[in-house]
Amino acid sequence: MIPEFKPLEQLNSTEAQQEIATLSDQLNEYGYQYYELDNPSVEDYVYDALYARLVALEDKFPQFVTPDSPTQRVAAGNTTADNTRGLTKITHPTPMLSLGDVFSIEELADWDKRTRNAINADQLDYNLELKIDGLAIELDYVDGVLVLAATRGDGSIGEDVTQNVLTIEDIPHTLKEPLTVSVRGEVYMTKASFAKLNEQREAEGESIFANPRNAAAGSLRQLDSKVTARRKLSSFVYQTSTPEVLGVTTQSDLLLRFAELGLPTNTTNEVIHNIDEVSDFIEKYRELRDSLPYGIDGVVVKTNSFDLQTEIGNTVKIPKWAIAYKFPPEEATTVIREIQWTVGRTGVVTPTAIMDPVQLAGTTVQRASLHNPDYIAEKDIRLLDTVTLHKAGDIIPEVGQVLVKYRHQDALPYEAPGWCPSCGSKLVHIDGEVALRCINPNCSAQIKEGLVHFASRNAMNIDGLGPRVVDQLLETKIVSNIADLYEIKKPQLMSLEKFADLSADNLVSAIDDSKQNSVERLITGLGIRGVGAKAALTLARRFENLDALKDAKEEDIAAIDGLGEVLGHSVRQYFDNDKIEEMITRLRELGLNFDYTSQTMQADSDNYFYNKRVVLTGKLTELTRDGATQWLTEHGANVSSSVSSKTDLVIAGLDAGSKLTKAEELGIQVINEQQFIELQNE
Ligand code: NAD
Repeated sequence: MIPEFKPLEQLNSTEAQQEIATLSDQLNEYGYQYYELDNPSVEDYVYDALYARLVALEDKFPQFVTPDSPTQRVAAGNTTADNTRGLTKITHPTPMLSLGDVFSIEELADWDKRTRNAINADQLDYNLELKIDGLAIELDYVDGVLVLAATRGDGSIGEDVTQNVLTIEDIPHTLKEPLTVSVRGEVYMTKASFAKLNEQREAEGESIFANPRNAAAGSLRQLDSKVTARRKLSSFVYQTSTPEVLGVTTQSDLLLRFAELGLPTNTTNEVIHNIDEVSDFIEKYRELRDSLPYGIDGVVVKTNSFDLQTEIGNTVKIPKWAIAYKFPPEEATTVIREIQWTVGRTGVVTPTAIMDPVQLAGTTVQRASLHNPDYIAEKDIRLLDTVTLHKAGDIIPEVGQVLVKYRHQDALPYEAPGWCPSCGSKLVHIDGEVALRCINPNCSAQIKEGLVHFASRNAMNIDGLGPRVVDQLLETKIVSNIADLYEIKKPQLMSLEKFADLSADNLVSAIDDSKQNSVERLITGLGIRGVGAKAALTLARRFENLDALKDAKEEDIAAIDGLGEVLGHSVRQYFDNDKIEEMITRLRELGLNFDYTSQTMQADSDNYFYNKRVVLTGKLTELTRDGATQWLTEHGANVSSSVSSKTDLVIAGLDAGSKLTKAEELGIQVINEQQFIELQNE
């Protein structure tokens, strides 16, 4: 969300300097996630608002502008110059710039005035084009043959994606004339291809792309051009750094000339003689936007004459002769019928709005998270309110604002529940948290989520103990806490629906086997706030035993690299509870292992797998999955089940599917079972 900014005139210079530094860091991080990982963490309009604030601050306090400010660099946060995920680096002979942007007709008129003043012209001809939501590409043709295709990267250094671009049907391998020319344009993914791609990825349990732009970027920046080919990318070309070769002097003629050469151009362009004429074009395409087969996020206004473009010039980051008018995000309107509250494992109670179904950017939407009570209060959301909806990152439905004019006069402010929807205990806010929590340790919803978590793969890894079985065990009162699991007897299971002799035996022995787990799994399973598998492993390595951890001082935990004060406090608070003490005693009596038995402690840090995040996928023929996992863990690796940008290595057995594809897409090192065995033996 966009924070409320202090008015500029109320800022002293220390505050301004501090805010500039904070915003720069934040925008650089967002840029990294957007440009480098192709996976934005905030919506574009949030990024744009923070960027606009930085521009305003730097305008007023120019003494604090640094060369690494996002306002001074193309694609700030982009790390192409240091790292090209395995693609070859390409230095652009002429930098590939970004575009300045405006969000209103007034700002556009101001830009026009500045541009005309710069060259002393009463009026200027502009070529209006659609702003295609893709990523910039440079195509170099020598004697009419495509020899190089490169991404924009950080503007100076891009990535060689020639092999991938050769798979894009729109882009000709040879021009209709044997020219040596450098052209630039946009690679994009149509809405249809985007929807299909995300549908496939969702079905395969993979992360989905936030929007067509990120999908196009992720698909183009592949090490394996077969992946790019499958993704069905498209392109429009709109610029050249060598107009003289093409014999044209204006932007509008350039587009016609491109078409003659067989290059893909977007024919939706128009020359206007005065900026006042821009509104009609903008309005028209704002309305037509949803019906276009590709995404657009605005209109680009370009000085039409190349001579005047040169005269007006560029900054280090943007051309001064062009500007992008950005559309506001897509919205729909609906009515909130109900707010449902659900209890999570840690007791956080989360509200979800249930709304009249509505079409929004390609899907039917009926539910949207309202996050927490403060969010509801801030937006003053009431039952039966008419609200605007948009998709965060073009994908996650989010309530924008309440349309108060449609509100019934009797509508009362919404009151968050005071009592847990599951157990009826009083809900509280802890330590000024925005979340509302149920702190009843006996709350059945929390107990259920806690048991499911305890048995989950990253924790005690008890096969056959999923949410359905946990429900049955709780309903029949066979268990009411994690210690009870270890006293389950086979006949009790046999009395439950869908349990047979074998499945009951299997579950009893899976639970029994889990007693031998190294203690980091137990620590994870306890569900201490903030302690996931990684922190649990750190704690297990440091304290070597659950009793030692239980008695550890808060400051000793906080001092551990990567943990910190909040976690130290959380661990201490967890163990300073008589009920937990009782449970730990019971778990000890039941024979659970409290020691760190993984050999990682002794694992040689020179060993190849030490500290690597490894994913196993596909069928192993010589090794078992469990055996390989245990061996890796004992040798200091972190074995996880899903591939992400943080994965270091994927071990792919036979018929490996989506995880292997994802690893290839992300440029992660992949080895097969034989190579793994060879490395084990080294
Ligand atoms: P941009 O996408 O706003 O505009 C410049 C680009 O527009 C050009 O490089 C070109 O690739 C493209 N373009 C499309 N059609 C064009 C046409 N007809 N003529 C010329 N260029 C055309 O700028 P950017 O520098 O690529 O990215 C900045 C924007 O990216 C931000 O404004 C923000 O919206 C988004 N962003 C979002 C996040 C996030 O976390 N959500 C992070 C970084 C950037």
